[in-house]
Amino acid sequence: MLTDTHCHLDDQSYQNDLEEVLKNAYNLGFILNPGCDLKTSQVALNLAKKYPKIYAAVGIHPSETGNYNIKTLDYLNKLAQDDKVLAIGEIGLDYHYEDNPNPEIQKKAFRDQIELARDLKIPYIVHDRESHQDILDIIKEYPNQKCVVHAFSGDLEMAKELIEMDNYLSVGGVLTFKNANDLRKVIKEIPIEKILLETDGPYLTPVPYRGKRNQPAYVEYVANTLARIKEIPVETIVTRTAQNAREFFEIEF
Ligand SMILES: [Zn+2]
Repeated sequence: MLTDTHCHLDDQSYQNDLEEVLKNAYNLGFILNPGCDLKTSQVALNLAKKYPKIYAAVGIHPSETGNYNIKTLDYLNKLAQDDKVLAIGEIGLDYHYEDNPNPEIQKKAFRDQIELARDLKIPYIVHDRESHQDILDIIKEYPNQKCVVHAFSGDLEMAKELIEMDNYLSVGGVLTFKNANDLRKVIKEIPIEKILLETDGPYLTPVPYRGKRNQPAYVEYVANTLARIKEIPVETIVTRTAQNAREFFEIEF
């Protein structure tokens, strides 16, 4: 069955037709909604409690770390006690926007939240935008703590380093973009056992719906593209990536 390991169903853009969006996703067996701040982490958990196949991750996105403090961590810890919270995320570094909190603030929040994941014995979900080297350096500080780098955008060397540490890479709509040859080349070299599927809805909509709102059902186009790149039947891609999600999140579905 298809899986979407990263979709922001808490987003405003789904507010009026979430039931429809979930109906469209009838052939998915697992959807994970990561939080980006305390509010969206709470909403993600609420959705997870309401719908059996939705699960949550809780965390503070690097762009949202401006008000981050020790109380934030306590609150995340409380949310993460629920069985439907499978990971800490999305957390990481984002050097794209000039008005983001400065890198030192982002790094502190990233490390603290990895340590929370470690204490809770759950994995973490990484957001990495234009911050590859610092991401890799910090991940290496926690060699026994597994993570997935979502919407992976690094080079082959980075990908290899990550999987050698037993981490995972997650791929979404970007894989289908015309200008994503470099990413496709990297992913071709990565064992299928280390790849998770995602949409990152409502963002990064795959071809042929690029420009429209993304949704979990569109993960099918990511799976099709991955099948073409790896020259593996799409059924195998779907089955294997579901197995990967079970292994990574340590969950049955
Ligand atoms: Zn995201």
